[in-house]
Amino acid sequence: MLLVVKILFSIFFYLLLVSGFILNVNAQDLSLHKPQTVIKYPVNGSSPFPLLTTEQLGKVTEALTLAKELTKDCDCDKALQSYGINSLAEILILEPNVNIFDGRKSTLGLPWLINGERETVNSYFVKNQDWLWAGVIQSAFTGKGNILFLNSYFFNPNKNVTVAIQQRAIILIHESVHQYANKNDKYFGGSQRLTKLIINACLPNLKM
Ligand SMILES: [Zn+2]
Repeated sequence: MLLVVKILFSIFFYLLLVSGFILNVNAQDLSLHKPQTVIKYPVNGSSPFPLLTTEQLGKVTEALTLAKELTKDCDCDKALQSYGINSLAEILILEPNVNIFDGRKSTLGLPWLINGERETVNSYFVKNQDWLWAGVIQSAFTGKGNILFLNSYFFNPNKNVTVAIQQRAIILIHESVHQYANKNDKYFGGSQRLTKLIINACLPNLKM
């Protein structure tokens, strides 16, 4: 049923195998019940954009600082130039609790139903936490621009501190490509390939 819903409503769902995903939706979602009802987005619920706590803020800010530092290097900044993105530094305009939130607690509705219930960022993130590190939800479903939501792995990657910070920085650069260059994973040959392009230019020794 999920597949049918996706096809029916032109949902292109790009799975970011290890570090996130992006949703592109071109049409209004319609309820499967009759008579059909046009769903108006955003479907917010009680807490669509949960703020990052002080500890989480620290991790995000630290990673963002490193990401900005990395993109000051010309090779890193121009990593995706041949894909039409002239500067990674220019699109790295992420700001915690403004356009980055805690996806694990978000009640924001996604454009499909599971057993008649609307999928939320929270329910989707929790059940896919093994591979889903972060995801960008597009404007049409947030009502406030493309928003980056972070999942558990981002905060607790089970890596040593240095590697964890580096991974977070790469994740933020990767997601900013979706969020502010509006390019999906497929455009780069898949999620892992996009990550690899960024790592090769920005942190060639990092293993993710
Ligand atoms: Zn991606």
